[in-house]
Amino acid sequence: MNDGKYEFLRVRREFRHPFVTGAGTFTEVERVLIKTEENGVIGFGEVAPWLNFKTENISQCIEILNTAGGDLENLKNLLRKLENQFPCLESALSSCQRWNEIQEFNQEIECAGLVSNPSEETIYKKISEGFKTLKFKISPATSLLEIKSIISTAPKDVIFRLDANGSLNLEESKLWVNFAFSSDQIDFIEQPLPVNDEGYRQLDVFKVALDESFTYPGKLRWAGPIVVKPSLVGDWMEFIGWRHNRYDGVYYSSVFETAIGRQAALWLAHRDEHLPAVGFDTLNYFKEDGLDFHQSGPIIKGLANFDWMDLWRKHK
Ligand SMILES: [Mg+2]
Repeated sequence: MNDGKYEFLRVRREFRHPFVTGAGTFTEVERVLIKTEENGVIGFGEVAPWLNFKTENISQCIEILNTAGGDLENLKNLLRKLENQFPCLESALSSCQRWNEIQEFNQEIECAGLVSNPSEETIYKKISEGFKTLKFKISPATSLLEIKSIISTAPKDVIFRLDANGSLNLEESKLWVNFAFSSDQIDFIEQPLPVNDEGYRQLDVFKVALDESFTYPGKLRWAGPIVVKPSLVGDWMEFIGWRHNRYDGVYYSSVFETAIGRQAALWLAHRDEHLPAVGFDTLNYFKEDGLDFHQSGPIIKGLANFDWMDLWRKHK
């Protein structure tokens, strides 16, 4: 009998090419996959910390999973005591709990194209693939003039989001935010300044989205857009409660999950009644590792009728 038990496994994923953001360059990520059994029902979840976000890391997660000794009740008690310190693990357990619904999820969702190195060539490639929303990574090295010129000549039905990953100073941020206000085609500038930077008070919030600054819901007061990473948000019931009390301006985004975390995150995003294009153009970034199975492109969908136990066994 495995009821009330959990197992976990650690997987390492290597990027095909170093992944460059305003927060640094990364060559690999580690994830912990969890399988639970509760009342005879199997659940899966994924712990997927992401660089530059204040959450637990993989070693801390493994430590608590070892400490709780495979007993789900022990683990939940430990997490209650360590309140708000393990958002990734709490998200993963939320996924396990709802896996019955999550594994059935097969709806379509519009996806924004991710351009980590924006240039005329990379941007137009995404547009030709059919993406109607594009998200660029920007940094102090990105030429505002070049981006201005590309956006001004882009088809008028394409929307842009620009993500600085906290890499700009206040002066640079103001220039980018002013630019965002000058064009209806720009949704927002995402996380221009570092987390908790005082400069945010001087920026017009309506086109400034917070991403790295947002982990646990309810801890942040921000009238502008918010980027939610379902894998980092902590307990999903609490998140859903928070979401009910916000009008809109909530955008969902991936942290390069395996198929397990992706399926769960897409399910959570799709519950949102007001769902702008999601930031899940993260497939095909890793070397072939047998952990991606969803379809990529401007329209993505859940993976129904998939043998999740078989995936688990192959990596166990
Ligand atoms: Mg971001």
